Amino acid sequence: MVKVVKFGGSSLADAIQFRKVADIIKSDAERRYVIPSAPGKRVLPNGEKDTKVTDMLYTCYRAVLAGKDPKNEFLPIAERFDGIIADLGLSLSLENEYKTIIANFRKKAGEDYAASRGEYLNGIILSHYLGYSFIDAAKVISFNTNGDFNAEFTNASLAAVLCKKEKAVIPGFYGAMPNGCIKTFSRGGSDFTGSIVAKAVKAELYENWTDVSGFMVADPNIVDEPEVIKVITYRELRELSYMGATVLHEDSIFPVRTAGIPINIRNTNEPDAPGTMIVRTAPKDDNPPIITGIAGKKNFSVIHIEKDGMNNEIGFIRRILSLLETLEINFEHLPTGIDTLSIILATDELKKHPDITDHIREAAQPNIIVVEQGGLAMIAIVGRGMVETRGTASRIFAALAHAGVNVRTIDQGSCEFNVIVGVNEDDFDEAVKAIYNCFAE
Ligand code: ASP
Repeated sequence: MVKVVKFGGSSLADAIQFRKVADIIKSDAERRYVIPSAPGKRVLPNGEKDTKVTDMLYTCYRAVLAGKDPKNEFLPIAERFDGIIADLGLSLSLENEYKTIIANFRKKAGEDYAASRGEYLNGIILSHYLGYSFIDAAKVISFNTNGDFNAEFTNASLAAVLCKKEKAVIPGFYGAMPNGCIKTFSRGGSDFTGSIVAKAVKAELYENWTDVSGFMVADPNIVDEPEVIKVITYRELRELSYMGATVLHEDSIFPVRTAGIPINIRNTNEPDAPGTMIVRTAPKDDNPPIITGIAGKKNFSVIHIEKDGMNNEIGFIRRILSLLETLEINFEHLPTGIDTLSIILATDELKKHPDITDHIREAAQPNIIVVEQGGLAMIAIVGRGMVETRGTASRIFAALAHAGVNVRTIDQGSCEFNVIVGVNEDDFDEAVKAIYNCFAE
């Protein structure tokens, strides 16, 4: 069995964390392919946190572009890596690497190149410390000339290289374009690297080690010590991530999801905790809680449209949707009544077209249009346990009523595994707490 293990920046922030990571890897011979992030924020003696190496690299490169001396600017970054090497007692020098990086900064090798050096250098250190081979991601992770990730080519090159390596470290976050230029994924992209490596080596499990013991049922900034989700399906996770719950990089579920490889979110600082298992289909003996998770976002707006006889006017909604397509406006929900239609959309989308009402009037001649800009929050209550469970909706709405929260919109698809409610932004936290407490076991 092969496991691909990815460690986030907080798991590799200093030598103490490196030791924990090595213990985790060495405790299981199946943990053969390791994806490190760059060193993350360290907790300082006063309890505050310092800066992530990736952020230091962006700042450093911008200073170089502004005319500062790369050697000086790079110094604090080199110190961070040298500190880890010294504290681990490794006989490794990265001096030549630093020289190359500084020379490339002078040649203006690009922001992506600069940002990627955190993972690159950290990967070299970790491979030395573990005694694993080091594979530069630039050699195996490919982007097309237009900057899009080349999934097929990458899968083939990763598979070809890794089948010859028993154990290897592959830095996360970056790859290269056909001309050799370094390109990074979006921020947090090492999760995605882990997922594509897991797919390429046909791993049985992709372990994603971070600093929380899994995916929480609700945002811990709103609910006090929420439960950790034990098992969640990719479909449920997608709904929750879309609505703002973040543990993993958004794209990282796609490669493993299609390959049917589960992801296990684990905590480097609490390695015995089982974490959250993300699976394609629920296990046979699945006995899920009614609600798997609750997540929500603020900053939504509503366009209310009314037209007498709308229900009989064939093509009315099509005209509205064509208009949104032409104007390139992305909408979220479209609740309808007999003669009414509401378009719920992110406020930023609405702001793209301040004259939207004129366009709608022209396209569909409604009787009334009212735009409520901002002020709406959407909350998704997601759970495979809700399917065919009677009384779930009534519990959700009773909890909201008891908390004094007015529900402005409701949306539930017939697949029954999610209910989305819209509430005033001011009621958002209360609403999330009320729903959580009503279903907490
Ligand atoms: N180091 C990169 C970032 O800070 C990528 C990652 O950590 O996944 O975004």
